[in-house]
Amino acid sequence: MRRMALIVQKYGGSSVADPEKILNVARRVADATRGGHRLVVVVSAMGKTTDGLIALAHRISPAPDAREMDMLLATGEQVTIAPLTGAQVGLLTDAAHTKARIKKIGCERARGALDAGEIVVVAGFQGVSGDGEITTLGRGGSDLTGVALAAALKADVCEIYTDVDGVYTADPNVVPDARKLKRISYDEMLEMASLGAKVLQSRSVEFAKKYGVSVHVRSTFKADPGTLVTREDSRMEEVVVTSVTHDRNQAKVSILRVPDRPGVAAQVFGAVADQDIVVDMIVQNISRDGFTDMSFTLPRADRARASAALEDIARRVGAEGVQHDDRVAKISIVGVGMRSHSGVAARMFSVLSKEGINIQMISTSEIAVSCVIDEKYAELAVRALHDAFELGRDR
Ligand code: ASP
Ligand code: MG
Repeated sequence: MRRMALIVQKYGGSSVADPEKILNVARRVADATRGGHRLVVVVSAMGKTTDGLIALAHRISPAPDAREMDMLLATGEQVTIAPLTGAQVGLLTDAAHTKARIKKIGCERARGALDAGEIVVVAGFQGVSGDGEITTLGRGGSDLTGVALAAALKADVCEIYTDVDGVYTADPNVVPDARKLKRISYDEMLEMASLGAKVLQSRSVEFAKKYGVSVHVRSTFKADPGTLVTREDSRMEEVVVTSVTHDRNQAKVSILRVPDRPGVAAQVFGAVADQDIVVDMIVQNISRDGFTDMSFTLPRADRARASAALEDIARRVGAEGVQHDDRVAKISIVGVGMRSHSGVAARMFSVLSKEGINIQMISTSEIAVSCVIDEKYAELAVRALHDAFELGRDR
């Protein structure tokens, strides 16, 4: 007899954007249960509903209260479901509104319904705090709801249904011969998510890694299998580079001739952190005659605020001034094989140099190398690297 699997399926906003699409999802769900599987279905808000709700709030107030924001945002997912809210399914979080962390999932209600032969349909993205307040899990948080429910219920797999059919070796819109990956490790997926690939919410991948949940990213509109995000195995190590990512939403800020003494970096980055801005790459030059230059990258949308805060700090610490460049891109190569292969970074730099592309900043992690370059060469760089590391060829 075939074993009955327990599957968590998560459908993103574009998969439930209108009633016809919701009916398509219902058909897919019904098909899966006919295969004998037990099913938990997590849905996002319809289409761009969440963006719309955020815009609406900002028309009332420039800085909406976080608790009130969660009350508003949670309605998006509730339009798509009818069955269970996050609170009803027992998704307990801390009280960090708009970016709450999951503390516990009480599975009794979902288990009971599954045992009764029902399909459990849950609103993604939302939970409830210890004192009964509605919370949300950060943008893209329905992925996390899906993965967390899969972990709590010990499901066989969490399927993430979306408008792309998997994870690719590069953005197929930029690289025509980009290839869909059959499998990818949690760490590679995490790097890719933080380096600009927008397939899965980073926190959901961290959660999946921690609890060993297999995540299958696949298309809502096609039947073929997508990409399995899973535990690393020895075969993955053989491949040096798995993918090339690019992020065009970057800007670069430099503070020139900063006095080189203890506490200055703390002051500079303290001022940026006070604005709730997340900085990415940081470079400090060696100091000459007691002064140094500091540069860092950040999301382009935050650049103007960062510059304003830094002008002030620059004056106070006696730096020469602040410069910025909104036209940069970050290009990265990712692969767990880098842990055991040498010369990967050098090869990346030589590929860029052959194309005449200047590297402005470099950063590395155990399984990725990133370069900041002029934005206008982003696509050229991605294509050249994809070619050089032979990612288009089937293995
Ligand atoms: N609706 C929420 C968002 O747009 C959560 C999600 O779709 O994953 O961020
Ligand atoms: Mg999403």
